[in-house]
Amino acid sequence: MLDLLLTGARLPRASDLCDLGVREGRLVAPEPDARQVIHLEGALVTPPLVEPHVHLDAALTVGDPRPNRSGSLFEGIAIWSERVQGLTVEDVKRRAGRVLRWQLAHGVQHVRSHVDVCDPELRALRALIELREEIGDRMELQLVAFPQQGIFSFDGGQDLMRRAVELGVDVVGGIPHYELTRELGVRSVEFAFALAVEHGLRVDIHCDETDDDHSRFVEVMAAETIRLGMAGRVTASHTTAMHSYNNAYADRLIRNLARAGMHVVTNPLDNAVLQGRFDAYPVRRGHTRVRELMSAGVNVCIGHDSVMDPWYPFGCGDPLQAAFVLAHHGHLSGAEDPARLFDMITVNAARALGLEGYGLREGGPASLVVFDAPTEAEALRLLARRRLVLRRGEVVARTEPARTLVAWDGGEEPVDFLP
Ligand SMILES: [Zn+2]
Repeated sequence: MLDLLLTGARLPRASDLCDLGVREGRLVAPEPDARQVIHLEGALVTPPLVEPHVHLDAALTVGDPRPNRSGSLFEGIAIWSERVQGLTVEDVKRRAGRVLRWQLAHGVQHVRSHVDVCDPELRALRALIELREEIGDRMELQLVAFPQQGIFSFDGGQDLMRRAVELGVDVVGGIPHYELTRELGVRSVEFAFALAVEHGLRVDIHCDETDDDHSRFVEVMAAETIRLGMAGRVTASHTTAMHSYNNAYADRLIRNLARAGMHVVTNPLDNAVLQGRFDAYPVRRGHTRVRELMSAGVNVCIGHDSVMDPWYPFGCGDPLQAAFVLAHHGHLSGAEDPARLFDMITVNAARALGLEGYGLREGGPASLVVFDAPTEAEALRLLARRRLVLRRGEVVARTEPARTLVAWDGGEEPVDFLP
């Protein structure tokens, strides 16, 4: 006897429908005998969504203590440095906890959050470590020690990074393009790698998040990854300067990222509004070279980055929104691209986070997401709601399908936006 039978599921890239059995929290072969049956009628079913890059400590602070009038990255950093003054553990936990619930409702079960550690009291980090404990098995939360003001350009930055690692982060971060000089930027990358190696941690660095084509710290990350044998354990986030590099340099760099076995996280929501701010027309869009990276075999995934904070006032924690925006800015509108965009918010992101046992297969965890749409392309186009989210066989989120009616020819007609 199964605990649950899901009929008529359409898995990613599959044209045929299949049935999925669930017993004791695991996916098993379908059987007719089940305590509960849910008919999915061709709905898309994916493994849990994975959020590889978000800033939970800053989330939901938009307008506090003051609005970002210019919308620029640097005004955002200045506002955040003021907001940090009044931070409390309870304040961070309340906002981060709310966004985690939003993410779970969208089907996200694994989250990597950067946490600003440029605070002598490390309040945000203490809060998120407490939250990581409290959410238990509901979701998986990885924390990155993120030095928003720099490691060598902020008083006590190196010490704060070391203390953050001792408190219990999973990943070491950095922000080399924000250090005072090119040399300090290089040193900050080397510092982050050395700290990660010393404690057996992964690396995820905010790298070259600028339109300055002289910002070239990703090459230092690739060299360190190769030198230290850290293939598969290193992520470069943003890398927007790559948009502006000359093509010969970008080609060599991308081949070296592939050789190093690095992951790249692109953050299309924030970078769509933050990049190109110093340009006269034509204005660069400042996204990293997603298609070229993927063609070279680099693992690319999509991050949401901010959720209503000083840098980005929009968002609701849904990776599908970020994928939708990347489809536009990354010229990913080809027939195969919706499935690739889904890879970038599921399996690719799972690889970057080093998740073990991830994916839909018999014997694996019955953790999955049911979309209110039949295919990846339709889910993306409609930003489809998640009808059902299962974690180890338990329903952890569900959404009632919306029903829309239009007045037409003297009566009312339903509209489902499907062709
Ligand atoms: Zn970020």
